[in-house]
Amino acid sequence: MNLSSTILNYINGELVKPQNNKWLDNYNPAIGKVYSQIPDSDEADVNAAVQAAEAAFPAWSNLSRVERSNILHKIANLIDANKTALAEAESTDNGKPVWLATRVDIPRASDNFRFYANAILNFHDESFPMDGKHFNYTVHQPLGVVGCISPWNLPLYLFTWKIAPALVTGNCVVAKPSEVTPMTAFLLSQICIEAGLPKGVLNIVHGLGHSAGMNIVKHKNVKAISFTGGTKTGAVIAAEVAPKFKKMSLELGGKNPNIIFADCDFEKMLKTTLRSSFENQGQICLCGSRILVEKSIYEKFKTRFVEEVKKLKVGNPKNDDSRLGAIVSKPHFEKILSCIELAKQEGGNVLCGGEAIKGEGECAEGWFIEPTVIEGLTQNCKTNQEEIFGPVVTIQPFETEEEALQLANATEYGLAATIWTENISKAHRIAAKVESGIIWVNCWLVRDLRTPFGGMKQSGVGREGGMHALEFFMEVKNLCVAI
Ligand code: NDP
Repeated sequence: MNLSSTILNYINGELVKPQNNKWLDNYNPAIGKVYSQIPDSDEADVNAAVQAAEAAFPAWSNLSRVERSNILHKIANLIDANKTALAEAESTDNGKPVWLATRVDIPRASDNFRFYANAILNFHDESFPMDGKHFNYTVHQPLGVVGCISPWNLPLYLFTWKIAPALVTGNCVVAKPSEVTPMTAFLLSQICIEAGLPKGVLNIVHGLGHSAGMNIVKHKNVKAISFTGGTKTGAVIAAEVAPKFKKMSLELGGKNPNIIFADCDFEKMLKTTLRSSFENQGQICLCGSRILVEKSIYEKFKTRFVEEVKKLKVGNPKNDDSRLGAIVSKPHFEKILSCIELAKQEGGNVLCGGEAIKGEGECAEGWFIEPTVIEGLTQNCKTNQEEIFGPVVTIQPFETEEEALQLANATEYGLAATIWTENISKAHRIAAKVESGIIWVNCWLVRDLRTPFGGMKQSGVGREGGMHALEFFMEVKNLCVAI
């Protein structure tokens, strides 16, 4: 499997050019240069994809769940077999270290297919015999054609997290990956062909959000939209989808608190906090970007954290010793730098980082930023309120549990939170009051795929994961029969 210089749409089982023959540049952020072209698809391509999906739906939805499950297993196995090429593609598109894509993103993509291939076999309807006179039961049915739209930060992992449950429940899918990171989705389309996925069951349309993406969202025959991305985009999509009464799942942005109490296991916390702050260049929606530290250990934390952050190597994603790679795109690189400037204007004190870095060798023109730690900002400033989505964290002291909670909950977001304490009662007490859909105590980014995943407040609507995703992609009927 080679990285191609021309990415094609996957429509009706074939790899095809966009009908308008318009193309977009695809950049390798580590070297700052265009390395491939991707379709700038529009309404005509989306219409063709929806048409293919509609035509494929009767046969696909009539297959037994075991038959659909078997095809998903084949796709999972082919992802594993092509792990090296996929990890290279993911890193080339996104700038993340190859070791990270190899260890996390790609295995997780095959896990997604495997998990849902197994989950569907355990999914069951309910029946309620009613005193021998009636029999009440449920029947779940696929929706038809559904739309899946995903972001650039975990390209294949989030794309497959949506597609796998949609397919295994018998739906046909029109999907759009982020135009910033399209290569793994293109490789996935080749894998689907090799796995024998019937034509039209999955269609991948590449292109921009406001054209390709919006045409999927708007299409009258697309019955549900599963979207992961920024909160502003989520609002635009919700405004379009809500009056049409389509099913909708929105996984949006975050400004996650990392609450560190003095009685934590300090060394374990420090090691994990380095990851939860800067993994994937801080471009994971679940990264803790606001670090709240109990005052009695604030100075100790500050000294040790900054010392360790300074040791994190930023560089060529191909190198095993690069802890951080490149920022995903030039506009995002510039946005992060402008956020750091804003933090300074707001009175922030940059304790380390804060600057762009020039890469070595082939990476001289790449987009790299030092991991950055800022203190001295109030909770209500923009830096602590708005998502930066880069290698930038703020640190703030707190004195009491009440203050920690007040700071933790003082944003419009509610995606994830991390709590560090060895006091089990305190952990439960705080966790119950933190306004976040996902809460970790003394760990980070660990999750059983069977659990619900999603945010509160402006971090989203609905839950993905486990049976929740299977439920989302199906209609449930309530049937009652007199005996
Ligand atoms: P965007 O919201 O910009 O884009 C997400 C996807 O939506 C992309 O494929 C994009 O296409 C597409 N899109 C953009 N505008 C529209 C539109 N009007 N109609 C339909 N589709 C559209 O997010 P980013 O790609 O910048 O990703 C980063 C964001 O994702 C962060 O806010 C992060 O927190 C969030 N995120 C949330 C997660 C969660 O689970 N809650 C997980 C991971 C990320 P294009 O690329 O062409 O703009």
